[in-house]
Amino acid sequence: MATTAVLSRFGASDRAQLAAEAGHMIEKLRRHGAVADGGVTRLVYSAEWQAAMAEVEQWLSESGLAVRADAVGSRFGRLQGESPSVVMSGSHIDSVKQGGAYDGALGVVMAGCAIRWLAGNIGRPSRTLEVFANCEEESSRFACNFWGSRAITGRIEPGETEALTDEQGEGIGAAMRACGLDPAAILSARRKDLCAYVEPHIEQGPVLVESGDEIGIVDRVVGVRVLSVTLHGVSGHAGTLPMARRHDALAGAAEIMVGTERLAQSMGAPAVATVGSIAARPGGFNQVPGEATFTVDFRHPDDQVLASFDQALRELIRDVGRRRGLHARLGQVVDQPSIQFDGEICAALEASCVESGVRWRRMPSHAGHDAQVIGTICAAAMLFMPSQGGHSHRPDERTELEHIGRGIEVLIRTLFGLAYQES
Ligand SMILES: [Zn+2]
Repeated sequence: MATTAVLSRFGASDRAQLAAEAGHMIEKLRRHGAVADGGVTRLVYSAEWQAAMAEVEQWLSESGLAVRADAVGSRFGRLQGESPSVVMSGSHIDSVKQGGAYDGALGVVMAGCAIRWLAGNIGRPSRTLEVFANCEEESSRFACNFWGSRAITGRIEPGETEALTDEQGEGIGAAMRACGLDPAAILSARRKDLCAYVEPHIEQGPVLVESGDEIGIVDRVVGVRVLSVTLHGVSGHAGTLPMARRHDALAGAAEIMVGTERLAQSMGAPAVATVGSIAARPGGFNQVPGEATFTVDFRHPDDQVLASFDQALRELIRDVGRRRGLHARLGQVVDQPSIQFDGEICAALEASCVESGVRWRRMPSHAGHDAQVIGTICAAAMLFMPSQGGHSHRPDERTELEHIGRGIEVLIRTLFGLAYQES
């Protein structure tokens, strides 16, 4: 009863104080990897990354939490409960190149603020609480996507530390050793004690700012399919090959590209499709392209819609190929069905939004997040805070302090339910 009374007194001044602390910490982290216009480039295992991790470590231990690093360098700030079973919250510390200060860092900082508040105002929980500062999520230095959460879930393949190299040719194993980490110990990062994971994150899109909602409860991650397409036509001289005799692979690719855009538009939101890379061969200005290679990335929360988009896209490619005399070769690069988050955690987030009096909505995430990986070994869900202007992965990415305060309150109430009111 006493603990519930503490939470019922939680009010505007608590929110403002916590938001100010979070904002202060985000600005401190922004300095590590600072680039032009307030942007951040903080690649895993770089000097900037090491400095940011040291900053997080210091902040968490000053908050009274027991801090440790795992084999890949992720940090954990622990508030020991009566049970060893762990409720974890946080996000990642690395960034994309010339990204913003909020993607990832906001989630770590909000989790730190929430767990420190719970420790100071309510005390020892039934279940153990941990802040998670994940070493890597963005794949911006090595193609190691979700490195920290894959370590926790035991999904790093044996050869990866030898195979992955950055643009300078440095291997991820060597980069780890330079930070004092032992790649041979990766298996020790695996966790078997997690029971729940709640990841706060900047939305990275315009849904919340446009709807006016203050919190997004993320109940799933959309399905993603990526096709690679190679069109084979006939190359020739740009001056002497008459138009009537051409089988121009790049012109065919252009038709498919525009057709893909129309297809996504005709399906309506939230369907999205992108041709993000394209190359023509031989590639000379005076040569008719005999070969064109491109990718099509398409996403939708409903796997059936995703499947029908896939079918329509393949028909479009066949049709263009037939009419233009091009042979198409298709490859499936990604086939990731949509991922459902845990219903009970989403319901707990909803109840916390109601108690906090915030405007919220349920929504899918159109980007990948650590929660989808960690969610394979424990119950997981996410909450989104609005992105100013819907911007993300750019220097002006920002969440208002007011929204950060609301988010921390919702997180406190949710973590309280998960860690203190064990059913
Ligand atoms: Zn992120």
